[in-house]
Amino acid sequence: MRTPTVAVISLGGTISCGPGDDGSALVPRTDAADVLSTDTARVRSVRWSLADSSEITFDELVRLAREIRRQVVDGADAVVVTQGTDTLEETAYALSLLRPLDRPVVCTAAMRAPTAPGSDAAANLGAAIAAALEPDLAEATAGAVVVMNDEIHSAKWVQKVHTQRVDAFASVGPGRLGVLYEGSPRVLRRDPAPRLPALVDRDTGRNVRVAVLPALLDQDTALIDAVARAGYDGLILEGLGGGHVSGAVAHALGDLAREIPVVYASRTRAGAVLERTYGSPGAELDLIGRGCVASGELPALKARVLLTMLLRSGYGRGDAETLLRHEADARVVVR
Ligand code: GLU
Repeated sequence: MRTPTVAVISLGGTISCGPGDDGSALVPRTDAADVLSTDTARVRSVRWSLADSSEITFDELVRLAREIRRQVVDGADAVVVTQGTDTLEETAYALSLLRPLDRPVVCTAAMRAPTAPGSDAAANLGAAIAAALEPDLAEATAGAVVVMNDEIHSAKWVQKVHTQRVDAFASVGPGRLGVLYEGSPRVLRRDPAPRLPALVDRDTGRNVRVAVLPALLDQDTALIDAVARAGYDGLILEGLGGGHVSGAVAHALGDLAREIPVVYASRTRAGAVLERTYGSPGAELDLIGRGCVASGELPALKARVLLTMLLRSGYGRGDAETLLRHEADARVVVR
């Protein structure tokens, strides 16, 4: 049987880390593919960068999506992307929306460096390669996935939920897309996301900046008032509970929504925001009446990636808001 080729594109992060030259704190210094020797696939190691994931930009992700496509044109059967865990949920979701392939891009990382006791680096990379070659997964979703700790998460729903543990990632909302048993992926359900055209073909390279601000107890409006002046193209407001703010904050958000898209999410980061229950000043009906848009079940970080990618892709405000609402729908197809 032919041995498949998997391109492993390495962006840095803990999976690429080793002690610095003085032997002390960890810094990215090796390609992720170096952590694993496998005979299930021919691994094509591609060094993209040796950086912390805090350095990744949207421009870079568009270039990365094009590189992913190039790897497949050059004969790779599948592509795995490795990076730091800190922004993994955002990167993976952006790759989901860019959708360079007709099968999922698989993203992975590590919580413990390859040199640390009990490192998850080799295990996660091996699992990611297995998932990338799994036909059932390609059938289950067109979006990117995150493979960590023998679990497969849809990029749309995965969140980093712990600072240190190896089980730092969870699918909040519809649950995991799959698991790995004895090294083999088992797909548990289908996920139709994303429902948008592949944005890699529409990206204009426009520099779009979308801010995220939390709603708070006893909040003033100075930062909200400053958002448009600072040149932002949109705001995601992480609302209280079901997506609420005070009456004064709602007023400021309404003024802002006359200029740029304002989306309300929930700082609980789980569950859909409300759209038709409460009528107090600052509750969801007030926000909607002032031109704000509900993020559905998308947490603020994902809504920011989505609005940024839509505006970069040349959609005007109205189309971007409609597509955001459509994509934020959490319905999944259960097998
Ligand atoms: N802070 C680093 C990063 O996100 C390391 C975190 C990690 O990979 O777990 O790149």
